[in-house]
Amino acid sequence: MSTNRELQARRQAAVPRGVSSATEIYAAKADNAELWDVDGKRYIDFAGGIGVLNSGHRHPKVMAAIHRQLERFTHSAFQVAPYEPYVALAERLNQLAPCARPNKTILLTTGAEAIENAVKIARAATKRAAVIAFAGGFHGRTMMTLALTGKVDPYKKGFGPFPGEVYHVPFPNRFHGIEPEHSLRAIESLFKADVEPARVAAIVIEPVQGEGGFYIAPFEFMRELRRMCDQHGILLIVDEIQCGFGRTGKMFAVEHSGIQADLVTVAKSLAAGLPLAAVIGRAAVMDAVDPGGLGGTYGGNPIACAAALAVLEVFGEESLLERSSKIGQRLIGRMKELAASNRFSCIGEVRGLGGMVAVELVEDRAANKPAAALTRRWAEACARNGLILLTCGVYGNVARILVPLTASDAVIDEGLAILEHSLEEAVAG
Ligand code: PMP
Repeated sequence: MSTNRELQARRQAAVPRGVSSATEIYAAKADNAELWDVDGKRYIDFAGGIGVLNSGHRHPKVMAAIHRQLERFTHSAFQVAPYEPYVALAERLNQLAPCARPNKTILLTTGAEAIENAVKIARAATKRAAVIAFAGGFHGRTMMTLALTGKVDPYKKGFGPFPGEVYHVPFPNRFHGIEPEHSLRAIESLFKADVEPARVAAIVIEPVQGEGGFYIAPFEFMRELRRMCDQHGILLIVDEIQCGFGRTGKMFAVEHSGIQADLVTVAKSLAAGLPLAAVIGRAAVMDAVDPGGLGGTYGGNPIACAAALAVLEVFGEESLLERSSKIGQRLIGRMKELAASNRFSCIGEVRGLGGMVAVELVEDRAANKPAAALTRRWAEACARNGLILLTCGVYGNVARILVPLTASDAVIDEGLAILEHSLEEAVAG
């Protein structure tokens, strides 16, 4: 097998540089929360394929379900010859979703496709065009989802014009001085200055921003947003693609605030690495689109559906929601200890909801000045020391942890030890 170095050279010649990778670790095999590269080096995986592996790499139950479906058929197209795994998964998701029942579900392939479809459905259901999204939000790389995404560099730069009728308001972010009232007032001001509420189809929000920096929307803010949507007949679309599927200690992050969404998008950990996404929502809203208006050749691939059904079984059998909360406590507890020690005055904030945990680095705690270069050095040191760690954030200064919820305490502690001494190395320069 080729080495990391050889593959990196071949890749640079064969793959456009627009597709960037966080590491030069070429994967050879993986198991639960560990990954081995082509050079035989072992890593603890705190990235989980960007939040895709809440139930771990190659969970035996998921593997068995995939094998069983492989023996039957791999594709028939749900729009040609439909099949039970799609229907069964829709039934399960309809029961689980934080939306007023009865619900319906459409299955798709990627997160961006789920968001695209949620907007289509919201427009068809409300007969309105405008959509409000949040600065710092990330919703995908297709044209409409880029329009909704609230970060220019590198996602939107050079790709416009984007579909119109999309408006951004600030995401509440106390660490950077944006109070929830500020965000709510910005929406009110939008209604006065740019678009009347009666033309707004939907507000799209991540209850915990993923790529934007793991900022948690205050629960009271989510409740106010719900009230505002109800007042004006606007649909609330909750993007749970990164924060959903147990990552925050509840199946859906929006459940922490006690509100219900009209439409929810999921992808990533839904099928443990097989490409699968969904829009789940109130049946009355979902059925607004006429037959043929929704779909896609690969949407709801039967192997991916079989994997997702197995993932849901694993969640129940292994109590992964409780495990997510415990993992979160363990990670946050340890990182807060580090923040309190005088060795790490660069830790500006440790925050999290369940197992969705972030550490934000600053140059100067008094001013909360982002330390992006230090964060990059931290991730690089982690990779050298055998831990895959991702960064994120509108300022690029947040380390995010998306370790599989099936990881053992021993593996998590090993990862935490690497985090600590790698941060020491990064601080030392
Ligand atoms: N929404 C959120 C919250 C995401 O984190 C992502 C992916 N990082 C997407 C949408 C887009 O998903 P995909 O890359 O599968 O299109």
